Amino acid sequence: MTGKTAIVTGAARGIGLATTKLFLEEGRRVAMIDRDADTLREAAADLDDVLPVICDVSFPDQVDDMARQVENTFGRIDALVNNAGVADFGPIEQTDFERWRTVMATNLDGVFLCSQRLIPALKEARGAIVNIASISGLRASTLRIAYGTSKAAVIHLTQQQAAELGEFGVRANCVAPGPVNTKLALAVHTPEIRSAYHDAIPLNRYGSEQEIAEAVVFLASDKASYVTGQLLSVDGGFQSTGIGLP
Ligand code: NAD
Repeated sequence: MTGKTAIVTGAARGIGLATTKLFLEEGRRVAMIDRDADTLREAAADLDDVLPVICDVSFPDQVDDMARQVENTFGRIDALVNNAGVADFGPIEQTDFERWRTVMATNLDGVFLCSQRLIPALKEARGAIVNIASISGLRASTLRIAYGTSKAAVIHLTQQQAAELGEFGVRANCVAPGPVNTKLALAVHTPEIRSAYHDAIPLNRYGSEQEIAEAVVFLASDKASYVTGQLLSVDGGFQSTGIGLP
């Protein structure tokens, strides 16, 4: 991959940071995008060949500034990983509009905005988009009206991107992680939910950030050159069982 570049949103920690490190191991330069300035600076300080950019992906102006900075520094964009996301657990009657909009702003608008702004550069490089969805976007539950809906939309948006961009040599795929022990999951997974996940997942455990990153880097790479419009569940087999989400 030497000479190639990638942009990873939500790169300051969790799955985004693991993906950044894996891209670096493969020889890519990586633009690390996050709205959490302190955590981003701390994460980037230990890494070579990264360009940290503070940006909230839900604001068009910030996305435009970020894209300009990355394009000017790297000259080419070979991959965009739309990973930034926020979690929210709640049924419809307890999810007020502000909460709904907060989830949609990052999980859906952010994917739309970053992709739209970077498509010209991705076309030029015949690059790849990898969107991070979730098993929550595949299976309904009583608790995830905003989060699950946002992730289902990301899955469809990926198929739209693949349909539109294929003729330009740009591929778009998405990864649906099962539960991973990141701060996002720790904030919403109660002991009951954790235990139910363990029982419902054939491999009987949570995934690691690294295991999700491996799938992302594969889909972004030339090894997946004939793969587009696909959803890859990296979930310990959860999706294959038909068991409901905890
Ligand atoms: P995390 O909370 O550890 O990391 C998310 C990062 O995104 C944080 O650094 C945060 O500051 C950043 N971020 C959030 N909103 C942003 C915004 N508007 N603009 C820029 N940066 C923003 O979470 P994670 O578990 O690593 O999640 C990464 C992705 O994986 C998310 O899209 C999440 O929905 C998805 N996912 C996670 C799990 C899980 O169990 N952890 C499961 C399925 C899907």
